[in-house]
Order: sequence, then C-alpha cells, then structure tokens
Amino acid sequence: MAFERLSERLQAVFRQLSGRGKLGERDVDEALREVRRALLEADVHFRVVKEVLERIRARAVGEEVLSSLTPAQQVIRIVRDELTELMGGANQGIAFAPQPPTVILLCGLQGSGKTTTAAKLAFRLKQQGRRPHLVAGDLYRPAAVEQLQVLARQVGVPCHTGGPQAAGDAVEAAAQGVAAATEQGADAVLVDTAGRLQVDAEMMEELRRTRDRVKPHEVLLVLDAMTGQEALNVARAFQEEMELTGLVLTKTDGDARGGAALSARAVTGRPIKFVGTGERVEQLEPFHPDRMASRILG
Ligand code: GDP
Repeated sequence: MAFERLSERLQAVFRQLSGRGKLGERDVDEALREVRRALLEADVHFRVVKEVLERIRARAVGEEVLSSLTPAQQVIRIVRDELTELMGGANQGIAFAPQPPTVILLCGLQGSGKTTTAAKLAFRLKQQGRRPHLVAGDLYRPAAVEQLQVLARQVGVPCHTGGPQAAGDAVEAAAQGVAAATEQGADAVLVDTAGRLQVDAEMMEELRRTRDRVKPHEVLLVLDAMTGQEALNVARAFQEEMELTGLVLTKTDGDARGGAALSARAVTGRPIKFVGTGERVEQLEPFHPDRMASRILG
C-alpha cells in the first residue's frame, strides 16, 4: 500500500517527539529534519518538500506551540494541516455543467489507466443516479475500443465508438460520440482518448483538437502513481498544453511511495479528484486530502 513507509517514518519521528515533554526549538528542528528526510524518501518533489517544510517550521517554532502544554501534539497538528493543504485542502468532485450533459475528457499516457478510469467514473455516476455514456476516442490502440465496450457492458452504460464517417479519425469519433450521447439523453459523457508511451507532439495535437471539438467541462489527467517523479513531469507537460481541471491518480493500491499524491497538486496547481485503488470498476474513490494526511500520520 502506498504511503506505508512514509507513514511509519513519520509516526516514529512523532513518537520520539511526544516522549520529550517540554520542547525547545532544537527538538522541533531535529524532528522537522526527519520529516524532511522522510518526505524526500517518499519521492515527494524536492521543491515541494522545501516549501512545505518552511511553512511547517514557521508555525511550529512559534511561541504558542513551544509554550503549550502539549507541544508535540501541536507540531503533529501543524504537519497534518500543512500536508492536507499541500494535497489540495477539501475534496473536489466532478464540477457538473449547469446545462447537461457534462462532458469529461480523460487524457494521459498509455497504460496509465485511462480506459479503466473512464469505466470506473461511469460506474460511480450511474450509482449516483446519473445517466453516463462512454465515448471511445482511442483509435490508436486497436484493442482500446473493444476494452471500453467490454467495460461499458459490465457497468451497464451505452458506449459510442464513432460511425463510418469517423473513418479512423479519433477527433471525429469523439465528436460524433458526444453528439450521439447528448441526443440519447446522457447527462454525463466520458470521453476516453489515445495515449502514447510518452508525451509527444502528435498526441497533444490530437488531444487539443478533440478538446476544441467536444468542449469538455472537465479535462482530467490520469496518472500512474507507480511512476513517482515521472508522473509529475507528465503532469506538468499536460498542464501546459491542456488546461487540466483535475487529476486522477491510479494504482495507489500498489507499492508507490506516495510522492506523486503528495506533490501533484503543488506541481500542477490542479486537484487530485479521484484515486484508483484496484483493477475492478468499483475501485475508484474520491480523494480526500484531510483523510489521506490523517492516514499518513496515523
Ligand atoms: P490506458 O492505456 O491508459 O487506457 O490504461 P488501461 O485502462 O488499459 O489500464 C492499464 C492497466 O492498469 C490495466 O491492466 C488496468 O487494469 C490497470 N489499472 C488501472 N487502474 C488501476 C488501479 O487503480 N489499480 C490497479 N492495480 N490497476 C489499475
């Protein structure tokens, strides 16, 4: 499970701090050095670590904390607050369009979990009583359309794959799919798109054209948590080109060190809206920074 090691490290630091009773600035400094080391080891971006530590330190060495009856608890509370803030504060779900359907474009590298996430989101929305439709826009990977169709059947939602006029044109297929879904009364349309093994100009160009055609209300970047720092580079590249509205972090059930989850928001300025916690369609959860911070700190 992601964060296990980070969680253990931080809990050890705070156990030691709590055992001290009255704290001086030196004790806090020492503890924060350990916190810094633990975050870096968890693969949190170094610039993000620097910033968050400065904020924590400024609050933790204040007179009020050190002279309080429970200084260690105060320090832990500050670290929890700042980690929560770092990950985006409150949870942000899908921003639904005032006028349905809400069009949600999913982008990301091949293998990041886009197709699976599209189906998972459809499943979630359907469970909430909405009428989601899926649209295949990944014509680059031949099995992708079929994969989406299989998942759509499993979830029990309509799936649009583009008519003959689309003729292998992904942008056209996506546009036709959204039009058909709208006509059939969808109130949410999830558009899967083609990813490549790495960020490349052709993929970005196709994504931009798709975005301009289907005019999405949400542009979600799907990131594989297992890729750590690389996920952050990918996020930055997509953010520059695509005006993302949010992130989905997949494979958080693997043994990722958690750095991407902790720094993605700070690096892109966009919130993590959902996390994937397994391969099954029901294994997608809204991301709650406060709960995650509490879980990390035990
Ligand atoms: P795409 O190329 O971006 O569309 O990626 P896919 O949706 O095909 O996913 C690639 C692989 O990752 C598949 O085997 C999925 O089952 C798997 N996958 C996606 N999300 C998760 C997740 O949250 N946890 C786990 N363990 N596997 C996932």
